[in-house]
Amino acid sequence: LYNILQELRGNIRVFCRIRPIFKFEAKSCIEYIGNDGSLMVFDPCKSQNTRKIFQFNKVFGPATTQGEVYKETQSLIRSVMDGYNVCIFAYGQTGAGKTYTMCGSSNGSCEELGINHMALNDLFQISSIREDIKYDIHVQMVEIYNEQVRDLLAEDGANTKYPFMLIFFLSNWILIMNCSGNGGLSIPNASIRGVQSTADVLNLMILGEKNRAFSSTAMNHRSSRSHSVLTIHVHGKDISGNTIRSCLHLVDLAGSERVDKSEVTGDQLKEAQHINKSLSCLGDVITALAQKNSHIPYRNSKLTQLLQNSLGGNAKMLMFVHVSPESDSHGETISTLKFAQRASTV
Ligand code: ADP
Ligand code: MG
Repeated sequence: LYNILQELRGNIRVFCRIRPIFKFEAKSCIEYIGNDGSLMVFDPCKSQNTRKIFQFNKVFGPATTQGEVYKETQSLIRSVMDGYNVCIFAYGQTGAGKTYTMCGSSNGSCEELGINHMALNDLFQISSIREDIKYDIHVQMVEIYNEQVRDLLAEDGANTKYPFMLIFFLSNWILIMNCSGNGGLSIPNASIRGVQSTADVLNLMILGEKNRAFSSTAMNHRSSRSHSVLTIHVHGKDISGNTIRSCLHLVDLAGSERVDKSEVTGDQLKEAQHINKSLSCLGDVITALAQKNSHIPYRNSKLTQLLQNSLGGNAKMLMFVHVSPESDSHGETISTLKFAQRASTV
């Protein structure tokens, strides 16, 4: 297992997930081919020659459960406890299932846990089982909107007492300095919170979502136009004093849909330009890593800057590329898959 993990370092794996077709959606434009990671897309309104085949490390069809997806991701996530940095991205157009994969959904009767919840359960379980290593786990949560990073776990300043604030900042600062000594894992200037259990993290995420909604009248709009990054920092120490530091980034990217520039103006145009830029920068970084270029253009966007130390090198990356099967999305689906294909020719 160790050898396999070694091999996967510095490479990106791309898993494609097709969400189920909804009742009100007319036709499907995807033929899910099979177990070898290939996928065929066609335009049902045109002739047969529109067929295009894409190849990924894995394809999850519409019937795949959250548990099945997690099972394929589990060994990667567990390797965080052995000191590897892991970065998982959810990419795709709005409505294709990014948040469903990462955070799950709890609509009424049934709750479908997302990767974040299952990953945390796993990490805390490992931490409680391992008697040879003592683990400390901290989290950060930020949003990147229009190339600005926002700390989603910031205290409500008005209610916080000064001395407490000072201690809080000092301890964060020490932790951040510690982390950055070992490759700058931490997100500077963002709160970092110690956690003991999955429940602690879920509570912080509720706070994060509240902070996120606070600044926005149209929450849904905002969440699809910004990147959200949940970072889990793991610090382990064994009996002889050896330490490991690593982190797991779970990134729910902004919707990748192309916005028709002739139709939007003002704020929406600005958003679209920022999203285009940051997603294409992410693609550039991944391609540069794959080609083992000497210069990796991390500095070109906030997202890649933030994740710099978890992309390439000792890090492992996984991209979930999400597509919707409905025929109206055919054009978006093709461009989403092309982006992902470029990332996966690694
Ligand atoms: P995105 O975050 O990419 O905009 P969502 O995750 O919000 O998309 O998904 C859009 C809708 O489709 C949601 O109602 C979600 O619950 C549903 N959905 C997405 N993927 C699946 C899936 N694999 N199985 C069942 N429902 C899904
Ligand atoms: Mg979403």
